[in-house]
Amino acid sequence: MTAPAAPDVGEIARIRAWRDSLAREAKLRGEEMFMGKPDAWYDDLHWFCPNGHVSGRFLSGDRGDRCLACLEPVLMGPPMTERQFAAVTERSGK
Ligand SMILES: [Zn+2]
Repeated sequence: MTAPAAPDVGEIARIRAWRDSLAREAKLRGEEMFMGKPDAWYDDLHWFCPNGHVSGRFLSGDRGDRCLACLEPVLMGPPMTERQFAAVTERSGK
């Protein structure tokens, strides 16, 4: 029943909550939205993983969208650098 490569649900949930709160703020500012996210995010795609990686690309497969660097699950979020993401999450990129 244990899967060594199981995603860290806690971390990805934290990223999702952070990402969704930013999307809600954008909506309140009146930004154009698509699928619950600001249009601007789709113009400059960024994916975030629990290990602090930020990339414009990801690996898509049977197990969902994964980080190219560490294969953890990724979530699409706002345009920002890995350094900015690390500051937000108080983690350092690995
Ligand atoms: Zn990663």
